[in-house]
Amino acid sequence: MFSSSVKPVFLKPGDSSWSEDKPDVDTNNATTFIYNPHLSFSLEQQRQRLPIFRNRSHVLYLLEKYQVLVLVGETGSGKSTQVPQYLLEAGWGSDGKVIGVTEPRRVAATTLATRVAEEKGCLLGQVVGYSIRFDECFEPNVTKIKFMTEGILLREMMADPLLRNYCVIVLDEVHERTLYTDIVMGLLKKILRKRKTLKLIVASATVDAEELRNFFNLNSTKDVNQNTATILSVDGRQYPVDIFYVKEPVPDYVKAVVDSVTKIHLHEPMGDVLAFLTGHEEVDRAVSMLKDHAAQRKEDGLKMLVLPMYGSLPNSEQLRVFRFTPRGLRKVVVATNIAETSITIPGIVYVVDCGFVKLRWFNPEAHTDSLIVVPVSQASADQRAGRAGRVRSGKAYRLYTEEAFSGLSAATPPEMQRTELSMAVLQLKALGIDNVLRFNFPSPPPARNLLSALELLYALDALDSGGRLTKPLGTMMAEFPVSPLHSKVLVMSGEFGCSDEVLSIMAALQVQNLFVKPSSGQAALRARAARRMFEVQEGDLLTALNACRAYAKHGESKQWCDKFFVNRKAMRRAKEIRGQMERLLLRFGVPVVSSDGDTEKVCRCITAGLFPNAAYLHYSGVYKTVRGNQDLHIHPTSVLYTLEQPKWVVFNEVLQTDKAYMRELTVVNPSWLEELAPHFYEKVIDKDY
Ligand code: ADP
Ligand code: MG
Repeated sequence: MFSSSVKPVFLKPGDSSWSEDKPDVDTNNATTFIYNPHLSFSLEQQRQRLPIFRNRSHVLYLLEKYQVLVLVGETGSGKSTQVPQYLLEAGWGSDGKVIGVTEPRRVAATTLATRVAEEKGCLLGQVVGYSIRFDECFEPNVTKIKFMTEGILLREMMADPLLRNYCVIVLDEVHERTLYTDIVMGLLKKILRKRKTLKLIVASATVDAEELRNFFNLNSTKDVNQNTATILSVDGRQYPVDIFYVKEPVPDYVKAVVDSVTKIHLHEPMGDVLAFLTGHEEVDRAVSMLKDHAAQRKEDGLKMLVLPMYGSLPNSEQLRVFRFTPRGLRKVVVATNIAETSITIPGIVYVVDCGFVKLRWFNPEAHTDSLIVVPVSQASADQRAGRAGRVRSGKAYRLYTEEAFSGLSAATPPEMQRTELSMAVLQLKALGIDNVLRFNFPSPPPARNLLSALELLYALDALDSGGRLTKPLGTMMAEFPVSPLHSKVLVMSGEFGCSDEVLSIMAALQVQNLFVKPSSGQAALRARAARRMFEVQEGDLLTALNACRAYAKHGESKQWCDKFFVNRKAMRRAKEIRGQMERLLLRFGVPVVSSDGDTEKVCRCITAGLFPNAAYLHYSGVYKTVRGNQDLHIHPTSVLYTLEQPKWVVFNEVLQTDKAYMRELTVVNPSWLEELAPHFYEKVIDKDY
């Protein structure tokens, strides 16, 4: 069941969850609940009770002595909320410069800013503010602590390559090693060499600190006194954890999780249980099996309280896992990877680890990025097991053999090494990094992934044959915080005479779930019927446009949204994003014009950017990508799923579950491909479809 290195393993049939734990940072709508055990104390007392408080002067001292401080501490120790305040209190930022804190997730940036403003007793947007994609709340020259996403810091580097506006940068949640974390680390290393007065704190919840320290240590000699980077670990309490393995590989890990939890419940003394699965559908399945089981065993003294935990769960339900477990109950939390480092659940004594995790993975042969389930790394397995030793000594049950464990890779490869890189490369080019293959990445990506990105950008005309950013197209595309395929469509939309439509469509693509989809019952049927009202044969993108238009026409009313199962929150967000994109287009002198109902113009314009994602219907009945010859299927959520299969389509993305599914489709005419991307598709019409 387990492979010796981390290698894609496909999801089980029926598991098509993908949006909730999407590691794709800026489109992540998931919220993580923050648990605060000291709520009954005053804010000042709460601050002093955090583990980091004892290290306050140490943090400040090390930052005077070293240029870079790698700060390691468990989730909840106070890194994100306290360190920026310590810096401010110690006088950092008094020279008119700003303390910048980067977060991988938008929601972390806003909630942290809100919390820190509250602790400082000031209005959000004054001394403490934030800046995230399509939304900012800070005042230049007033804001001293600025929380932002990593992508925003990258954009600021485009305007100010040495980040002269900042005195300290705190890179937070670095253990997540998102694509942007790594890009920003590579760029900051260059900046630190040039600006010796800039200080950097790298905050991480896991202990792989040495690699980071070595990366940032600019001293080339062996003399440790000359080191420019150091490590500080904030002690969290950790008790010993006994580890158990299965003797034989398990055929179905969801079922094995359920069996293990029930065994623990029957045979082990008091203490709560945390089980790890890979996605919310698996979590829901395990929760319902466990609940059935609990219901059958009514006569027992100790009862199970079974709770799910994943990113897309409503806040009120997330909150339940943090509550104190009432007497006579044993809390069993079934969670996704979110419980590995992002949150800490109190009271856990037993951990059950399925041994897998869902990750985004790029396949350079097929040119597609998919979410797939892979075996965890040893570091993740140890991090998961460690969750059992927070209150007292605990036990961790691994649903894989000890031999399989020793064959696992040491650490999960950073996102940089496993995702599609065209947007990253475009932004590096815009920052003047000409030779991306030689760029000093903390963990260099596979060269062929970089080459694939360069080829794609060349095909899109964003780069010339010498690999330089084209002007104005490439430079304009780099300004849009969206995928290059999308920015190409946006930038071209003026010429195609349909920028008004394209703005709505591209904004809608950045948010997920424009439609509310009840999972079952009458409501699901009514929702399906309501969605038909917007459906058009041109595909999902034009359907989204219809819905956006109808939403505007009906005054953005709540009643209308409820009636037609339209997600009002997503619509609002799409409208905001549209506004931002429109401003960018106007700044570049792209006129905002409507095609006045000429849908062909819109579909052609979409093709001008999405042409690398073209697929045709093969005579065997499956679709094939033109460039990778990969088998593809129409995703059941597409409006085209129930219609007659079109011969040619372009898709927005591929979701790999039991099969590779195309999502967000547009029907195209193959002659457009030849016309709009002649260098990419010669004679596509000759294909044997
Ligand atoms: P770390 O970054 O080390 O994970 P944080 O600084 O984010 O820790 O949080 C430290 C503590 O501050 C949390 O454990 C919680 O008690 C409290 N806290 C943080 N954010 C909030 C919030 N938005 N509301 C209430 N309490 C919070
Ligand atoms: Mg934090």
